[in-house]
Formats: sequence, structure tokens, C-alpha cells
Amino acid sequence: MEVSPAAVESNARNLSRNLAEGSSLMAVVKADGYGHGAVTVAKAALRGFACGLGVATLPEGIQLRKAGIRAPILVMGNLSQVDELRSCLHWELMPTISTKREVFLCNQLANGTGRNFPVQVKFDTGMSRLGCELGEVPDLVSEIVNSSYLNLKGAYSHLAMADGSFPGKAASVTQQQQEKFQDVIRTLPHQPDRLCVHLANSAGTLRDPKFHYDMVRVGLALYGHNPIQTGCGIGLVPALAVKAKVTLIREVPQGVGVSYGHLFITSRFSRLAVVGIGYADGISRSLSGRIFALFQNRRIPQVGAITMDQLVLDVTDHQNVEVGSVVTLLGKDGDEIITPQDWCNVSDLIPWEVLCGFKHRLPRLVA
Ligand SMILES: *Cc1c(COP(=O)(O)O)cnc(C)c1O
Repeated sequence: MEVSPAAVESNARNLSRNLAEGSSLMAVVKADGYGHGAVTVAKAALRGFACGLGVATLPEGIQLRKAGIRAPILVMGNLSQVDELRSCLHWELMPTISTKREVFLCNQLANGTGRNFPVQVKFDTGMSRLGCELGEVPDLVSEIVNSSYLNLKGAYSHLAMADGSFPGKAASVTQQQQEKFQDVIRTLPHQPDRLCVHLANSAGTLRDPKFHYDMVRVGLALYGHNPIQTGCGIGLVPALAVKAKVTLIREVPQGVGVSYGHLFITSRFSRLAVVGIGYADGISRSLSGRIFALFQNRRIPQVGAITMDQLVLDVTDHQNVEVGSVVTLLGKDGDEIITPQDWCNVSDLIPWEVLCGFKHRLPRLVA
């Protein structure tokens, strides 16, 4: 895996530049920075003017703090255990609050330390996952505001259908969510320290500036991929390439079955290249026989079942491929490029899943 911090930085800068007046960029670096390496991409995004970082879990936040990152960090998953919330306070990570129980626990923990505990509240506008019910927001918010040791920094919700995979329904569902969001934020208190309200993920951000509010939480686009797949004028640069080496060349007659299940049978005398990468590295088996590798500006078909540690390319028409050749499975080679979307077009994967599916057996090289 070759990761380009320069690409992440430039994506962050382009995204920041294109936000509505007064809105700022939170770089979402959960799941090890969507597989790119959380610390590397967090630092790159901050250089590109991200104002904060979003993670899903407590250990993800701690990892960034241990790497010396001082920017505000929001933990977007729900922390339900006292120990987790204590750790959050200790490491100066902002928890997401959605129940009075959590308000009570956080206040009690902060009371013991004499420190203020910055928190954000989350409410559900149509995702039916994290956050409190809409009707509970006023109570929850006043409970936080009236807690001596809590500092309410923000309030947010999450879009369920802003990306391009749901044509037809996306616009109306997203609009309904926004209307609910509007209704709630109108009821929020005007504190001296103005609340940061935020709604948009990458898709919402790229869809329309009306979703930008005070901040946007951008993951996928930060890594160079546009989830709404319409030209939106922001030059996003993919930050990841996945390459592997040909370890063996075989020449086999016509009519032989290749790999488990013989899903591919040679139709001619064939030259096969075995590449040392497989589904244990994150190349999903569901892509078997449906993807290509790039070599010297040409696309080479992958054939047969992708196995745990190996996959096979048909290099009969690519005599220049030899043992030691490095092929590109994802990313750019000359003028050719293979994107996560190309894999999604031939499987039921989604780009998010492709990116965070790469396993730690693959070395990450920072380019
Ligand atoms: C993961 C996540 C995001 C980022 O989503 P992308 O589609 O990758 O931009 C934003 N907000 C929340 C709450 C998330 O969990």
C-alpha cells in the first residue's frame, strides 16, 4: 500500500476552500484513516487546514494523542462505560452524548478532576442508529448546559442517504433529515461559546453547501473519492495505491482449470502470472475474475478465484510481465487508473469497504 499524505493534504485544502462561509472541515480518520494509516492522514489533513479530527472508537483517539496530535478530536461512536468516558477526559477526547446517563457520568467524572469536560450531543434525524430521539434533545441539552463540569461544544446528526447509491430516494430523504435538523438547531441555546452544529458526511458536503453548517465531517472524499459520482469541480486525488509483485510465471496448455473451483478454464495456450496478494490482504474474493491489474499502462485481466494469499493474472497477451514485475491493483499506472469504484461496479462492495478492507499484512509505505 502506497499512501500519499500530499494527496490527503491537497484534498483537505480543496475541500476546505469549497465550504460555505463559516464552515470548517473535520477530517474523519476512523478505521485507521480508512486503511491509509490514521496518524499519517490526520497530520496531512491538519496541514490542509482541517480544524479537527473524527474517530469512531476510544483507542483510535488515544492513538492520535499518543502521536502528539493536539487538534480537537470527536469520538463519534457511543462510549457507554464509565472507564471509557474517564479515559476520554484523560486524553482530551470529546465524547458523543445521547443519553442523560452519559451526561450524569461525564459530569461526575469531571467533578473529580476539577476539569471541564467538552462534549457533543448527537440526535437522530433519520438514520435510526446513534443519537437520541428528536423529542429528547431539549431536555438532554439543558441537562448538559446545567451540569457544572460539562462544556457543550457541538450538536450533530448524520445523513443516511446522501450518496449516489440511492438515486430516486436520496434527495427526499436527505431533505427530510435536513428539515428535522433545522427544527432541532433552532431550539438550541445561544451560549457565549457558540455551538458547532454539523450534519454532512462527504456526500452531504459535495452534494450542496446548504448542508455545511458550522462544520462538515469528511471521510471518503479526504482520501480522494467522490461518493456522489457527479463532477463537482473539486479535484480530489486518490491517496492510495495497492501494488504487488509477480512471484511466478507459468505456461499452461488450453483447457486447464485455474485456482480453486476451476472458475476459469484456459481457452488457449496461456501464460499465467501468480501475484502474492489475496483476500487475506483485502482483495475481496467476490472480485474473482472481475478485476484488472495495471502494468506499463495496460490492463491485465485477473482470472480464477482470488485465494487467501495469491491471485492469478492472464499475461498471455502481456509478454513483458515477468517474475519480479510490480503490478498495480488499485491506483495509477501511467495514464491508466483503477479506483475502488471500479471494484464496486463489479461486486456489491462499496468504496468505504474497499479502503478499510486492506489488512495489516500489507506493508504501508508513505510516498
Ligand atoms: C464515518 C462518518 C463520517 C464520514 O463519512 P464519509 O461518508 O466517509 O465522509 C461522518 N460522520 C459520521 C458520524 C461518521 O460515522
